[in-house]
Amino acid sequence: MGKLFVISGSSGVGKGTVIKEFLQRHPEFKLSVSCTTRSPREGEIDGVNYFFLLKDEFKKRIENGDFLEWAEFSGNMYGTGKDYVKETLNSGHNLILEIDTKGALNVKKIMPEAKLIFILPPSMEELEARLRGRNTESEEAIQKRLNSTKLEIENSKKFDYKIVNNTIEQALSDLEKILLE
Ligand code: 5GP
Repeated sequence: MGKLFVISGSSGVGKGTVIKEFLQRHPEFKLSVSCTTRSPREGEIDGVNYFFLLKDEFKKRIENGDFLEWAEFSGNMYGTGKDYVKETLNSGHNLILEIDTKGALNVKKIMPEAKLIFILPPSMEELEARLRGRNTESEEAIQKRLNSTKLEIENSKKFDYKIVNNTIEQALSDLEKILLE
């Protein structure tokens, strides 16, 4: 039976980069592919980064009880497939869910053995600079993300571990200590 880890942190904090680096070094870990109703960003591939679904299809899956957890976030819906998680853990793989803090706390309720890890930005100023530097979103979308970050940090008080992402190398080494323990 594989182990389940949930990693949260507001977008722009660099968690995607840290997780990608970790997965390259440790191929025995898998990253869960979530479903979402948001549009793909440039370079994102259906079935790799997300399963991109229309809202109607997403709602149908909620009604069917297909999701372990799901959340609406910045006007878009995101969800983790129940069967996908079950099958991956049963096949002996360790699985990482990269989801928001609300979703993480819901997973913990259903699967208390899951370890929750929160990745913090060095500061709010740094996070804002990173979000703007990415240049993929409108001012309104950036403000929405910054506001939700405050809620995320509040929720993260119930997490098992916290990592501050000062540099990729240091964050990666902290993550290895937790996941390989
Ligand atoms: P983004 O649009 O930047 O890819 O993701 C926005 C937020 O949705 C991030 O905080 C990300 O972790 C979260 N997210 C992605 N997939 C899921 C999911 O399946 N469930 C939940 N609850 N959040 C998710």
